[in-house]
Parts: sequence; C-alpha cells; structure tokens
Amino acid sequence: MELRNDMSAFESVMWFFGRAAKHLNIPKEIQELLSHSWRELTVEVPMRMDNGDVKIFTGYRVQHSGARGPYKGGVRYHPNANLDEIRALASLMTWKTAVVDIPFGGAKGGVQCNPSELSQDELNRLTRRYTDLISHLIGPTRDIVAPDMGTNARTMAWIMDEYGQRFGYNPAIVTGKPIELGGSYGRDAATGRGAVFSLGEWARLAQRSLQGNTVAIQGMGNVGSWIAKLVGSLGCKIIAVSDSKGGVLLRGGLDGEALANHKRTNGSIADFPESENISNEQLLELDCDILIPASIDSVIHHENADRIKAGIIVEGANHPITPVADDVLQKKDVIILPDILVNAGGVVVSYFEWAQNIQQFRWEEDRVNAELSKAMIKATRSVYERAQKENISMRESAYILGVSRVVKTIELRGFI
Ligand code: NAD
Repeated sequence: MELRNDMSAFESVMWFFGRAAKHLNIPKEIQELLSHSWRELTVEVPMRMDNGDVKIFTGYRVQHSGARGPYKGGVRYHPNANLDEIRALASLMTWKTAVVDIPFGGAKGGVQCNPSELSQDELNRLTRRYTDLISHLIGPTRDIVAPDMGTNARTMAWIMDEYGQRFGYNPAIVTGKPIELGGSYGRDAATGRGAVFSLGEWARLAQRSLQGNTVAIQGMGNVGSWIAKLVGSLGCKIIAVSDSKGGVLLRGGLDGEALANHKRTNGSIADFPESENISNEQLLELDCDILIPASIDSVIHHENADRIKAGIIVEGANHPITPVADDVLQKKDVIILPDILVNAGGVVVSYFEWAQNIQQFRWEEDRVNAELSKAMIKATRSVYERAQKENISMRESAYILGVSRVVKTIELRGFI
C-alpha cells in the first residue's frame, strides 16, 4: 500500500501492520487474514427519546482477531463513530493486547451518537438496546466490553445488567465497571498511569532526564486527566491542556489536580485561573518537550506535522498520528511512544479485572498498580530494545512484537 494523505483510519493501521508483516516475512495467507476483521456487525438501534419520539442510531461491534484469546475492546459513543474507525480500533486492540502480552484478542464497538446531547435515561435505554443487539456475539469468554470515548463505568454497569438479564449474572462480561459491581481498583486511572510508567521507563532506558520537561496534553477525559495528575511524578511540568472546547496555556506550570477540579466544576477547562486560552491547533504546535495527544484520532496529519515542535510524543489516544505525519516526524527524529504500547495500561488492568471476576476475588489497589507497572515496564523494554538493535522506530518495533506474537498463536492453533 502506498502512503497517502487521505488514508482512512483502517488503511492507516493496516499500513503499519503491512510494514511489520513485510519485516517478519509472514505467510501470505496469514497476512491476508489479519488484513480484515474476523467478524463485523452493524446494527440499527431504535430508542425512544424522553420527548416520546423514536430515533434510530447506528451501532457496531467489530472483532478483528481472537487468535490469542477472547476478543476485547471498548465501546465508543461519538457522533463520528463509523465502521472504518471501529475496524481500525479493533485491529489496534489485537496488536496492543499482544504487545503487553495479555491473553486477549482485539475488538471494538461504537454507537454513532452525541452522548452530551442525551439524558441519562436516554443513554441507559440506548445502551441496553445496543447490548441486546450485539449480545449473541459477546460473552465473558467470547468478547469482553470496556469503556472508551463517550462511555464510562456507568455505561458498563448498564451493559452488565442487560446482559445478565438475558444470560445470568456475570460481571466478567465488561471491564471498567463500578467497584461496587466487581470493578477493579485502579482501572479508572490505568490508561493514564500506564502511559506515565511507559514514558518513565523509556526515559530510564534512553538515559534521558525528564526533569523540568514541559508537557502539553490534548484531551482531558479519562486518559488525559489521569496523565495530567500523574506525569508530575517524572519531574515534568504541564504547561498546556485542552478539551473539545479549546485549551489553556500557563508557561509557569499547571496543576493537574486543580485542572481536573476546575473541569468538573465548570464543564470545561477554559478560563482556568491565570492561564491564557488557546485553540487545540495551537496546543499541538506549542514549543514544548513532550506532546501528549489524548483525545480523538488523526489530530497530527500531513498539514501540521511539520509544525510540531515537541521532541517526544506520547500517544495517549488511539491513532492520533497519520502514517504520512509519522513519516515526517520520524525524519525530524521525534521520539514517538506508540499507542499500542503506551496506552495499553487500560486493557492490562481490564485483564486484571476480568481475572478477579472469574476468581471472585478482589486485589488491593497497590497490587493492581504494581502488576500494571511490571507489565508496562516489560513491554516498553522489549519494544525499546528491538528498536535500538534494529535501528527502527518504537512504533515499528511495537508492531513487529505484536504481529509476531499473534502470528505465532495462529500457527500453533493451526486454524488456517
Ligand atoms: P473521554 O471521552 O473520557 O475523553 C475525551 C477527551 O477528548 C475529552 O476531554 C474531550 O473533550 C476531548 N475531545 C473530544 N473531541 C476533541 C477534539 N476534537 N479536540 C480536542 N479534544 C477533544 O475519552 P478517553 O477514554 O480519555 O479516550 C481518549 C483517547 O484515548 C481515545 O482515542 C481512546 O480510544 C483512547 N484510549 C482510551 C482508553 C481508556 O481506558 N479510556 C484506553 C486506551 C486508549
């Protein structure tokens, strides 16, 4: 496949996959198999609105590969959720679960809707209907659901309840649920915490001090806000953050905890005391040491890649950099800690949650965080060492590691 500016999300992930497959010289038929989803379901989700009208929403569940274990992936509620994007995110999950070596495959789901325009009752009804429509594909040993953009612990509780009404109580059907319903301590923070562990380990291996490094974070949802709360532990200073409504800049340093409180109280981070309001585009192009995209995909693309000034990019979000932009940034020697490594902490703790549910046992938060740290450090080290040895990027190294592990299980299982 040729590099193009207008590659779709799935084409982009497949471009990275294709490069790794070529490097590994994997058999053609396995390459062909992994270039497509294993199964894709599109459903029409009718839902009665609070005002009595019925609205139809489109939903998806895509299962990319179950070679390494049950399918695993989040559900996204977003106005732009579409099959190509969900397909791309499902395949990213396949490589991600393999990179951190947990026994899951890759899946993703979504409903095309704007959750901020729906009441809690409407979201509850929509979630239950969507769950019913995909219920024949999911299950605690088939496909386990988790939160993603626009969904949260509450959404998972509704899915668990609806699934339980049909098939019997089983908390292992979803991860990222409330603690009271069998959720794991530390799951909420896990993606952000894992990203900070991975960045810290990379810096240690590369012998780079992060002391005083300036950080800009795009997105202040689950991932961004936890990174904002925790990245200071590496000695870094946050100078800018943003959400969908825009961002704020304070060269003297922003306090992650205070920002999260401000957003909770005011609904947005705009007008944070003493800071200057900036746009999302300005945030990406800021003069800073570390840039952390933690919102939507493809925010760094062929038009702005050249203007990125950060020397290190930590992909908190899934697929925030298009392949063309990735190429531009590699040529500028920008270090990119790739999504399939750095934001894998969420699925790692989802695995711990699932394992706790199956054993009907709860771990203390210290244990969860210690095991998460181990998994992130191990994966970061494997990716870094190959990148150094073969003089390739961290992304290429991560894909090679993930793809090789998936291919190995396909060969061992002998299912083609
Ligand atoms: P979220 O819904 O909690 O937060 C998303 C944030 O992005 C919000 O602050 C929102 O205001 C902001 N945003 C939305 N549109 C934007 C835009 N156009 N420009 C700038 N900001 C915008 O979502 P999340 O769970 O934090 O997920 C963020 C990213 O991280 C997604 O790419 C998701 O797939 C990825 N991710 C999430 C997890 C997880 O455990 N939640 C795990 C791995 C990867």
